[in-house]
Amino acid sequence: GHNNLNAKLVLLGDMGAGKSSLVLRFVKGQFLEFQESTIGAAFFSQTLAVNDATVKFEIWDTAGQERYHSLAPMYYRGAAAAIIVYDITSANAQPCGSLVTSNPNMVMALAGNKADLEEKRKVTAEEARAYAEENGLFFMETSAKTAANVNDVFHEIAKRLPRA
Ligand code: GDP
Ligand code: MG
Repeated sequence: GHNNLNAKLVLLGDMGAGKSSLVLRFVKGQFLEFQESTIGAAFFSQTLAVNDATVKFEIWDTAGQERYHSLAPMYYRGAAAAIIVYDITSANAQPCGSLVTSNPNMVMALAGNKADLEEKRKVTAEEARAYAEENGLFFMETSAKTAANVNDVFHEIAKRLPRA
């Protein structure tokens, strides 16, 4: 039968990785060259139809890593899914390892964002994919700027969510 699912989804990752930009692209189809920094957390919702279900995502966009350690637990409590975002042009890109290991039942995506900046790339797709496979995440490179793979990440999550 057809399922209507509500799914809390959190975005995590370093400040500047493009979390807010990915949400803005997904929810409003827009991109801002100078996206304002997120203070605390912002909330959005967006519905997506997959083959057998309509998924209403309740999206929590958090501030960056500097606050992640203290604030994340309350954001990801009850979350069905998480997108861990890093910037492929940042040499210090650090996936959120502790979250990965502490939430085996969440659908987890690793998004290597800013894929449009190929000439500035510091993290290869191969290393990111290997990390993702080791940790049970699925991996995609995205661009909030060009929209590449943005809907696809959410669509893939929607397909992987447990059905009622
Ligand atoms: P957040 O701190 O993780 O929420 O990151 P933001 O969404 O605020 O983005 C930080 C900066 O990176 C902003 O200036 C964005 O315009 C820029 N940005 C975000 N995503 C992309 C992308 O896919 N490509 C490019 N070229 N810039 C991006
Ligand atoms: Mg932000």
